[in-house]
Amino acid sequence: MKIVLLGAPGAGKGTQAQSISNYYKIPHISTGDIFRRNIAEGTRLGKTAKRYMDSGQLVPDQLTLELIEDRLGQADCKDGYLLDGYPRTVVQGEFLEELLDEHGSHLDCALLIQVPRSVILERMTGRRVCPSCGASYHLKHNPPMKKDLCDICGCKIMQREDDKAETVEERLDVYDEQTSPLIRFYAERHILKAVDGTRAINQIFKDIVDVLSEVKKNDHPQE
Ligand code: AMP
Repeated sequence: MKIVLLGAPGAGKGTQAQSISNYYKIPHISTGDIFRRNIAEGTRLGKTAKRYMDSGQLVPDQLTLELIEDRLGQADCKDGYLLDGYPRTVVQGEFLEELLDEHGSHLDCALLIQVPRSVILERMTGRRVCPSCGASYHLKHNPPMKKDLCDICGCKIMQREDDKAETVEERLDVYDEQTSPLIRFYAERHILKAVDGTRAINQIFKDIVDVLSEVKKNDHPQE
């Protein structure tokens, strides 16, 4: 199955993506993770991407197109994948459509995780991560046992630059302006499905599995 995950930053795409990827045994491809890896490795792409990411802006389309073409051409993507954070603009959506078309393929589902802006703001600005082991916390909903220290490795937990309130507001504006038009884009192609992202994590996952089972059934009615 080829799936695109849509939703504002902080809607819980990453969390659900992990579960979907495990359940359906398809690779989870997060362009945000690819950029962060490049930043950590100090590559030229990472250096360019960081400037945009730290200010809540999108990395220019041109830099994402080659990257995604290269990633989707890898062997593990043959039988499907889950895209998280790509496409982020209609230009990227059109690029993906053409790329799939060239290979006689198509997306099966664009899955939208819906969460109101106020809920997202609270979720994201409270998020903290451990810079050493990557563990993630929330000051209110999932605090570490010792204030500001990672439960796993004891390092001081930090706020990601792009989780700061000002940047989050900027990222949400960018989402509204540049990414949310993709909702209509996929609705017009009759592959848009939406789930309520304010429910408990396992409930959302159950809703997603229900939606995707339906998609699969319609694709392969004999199974
Ligand atoms: P994410 O982890 O998906 O929230 O992405 C973090 C940041 O990486 C975004 O705010 C963008 O600056 C950048 N980014 C990730 N994916 C894309 C994309 N498909 N197009 C442009 N920028 C992206």
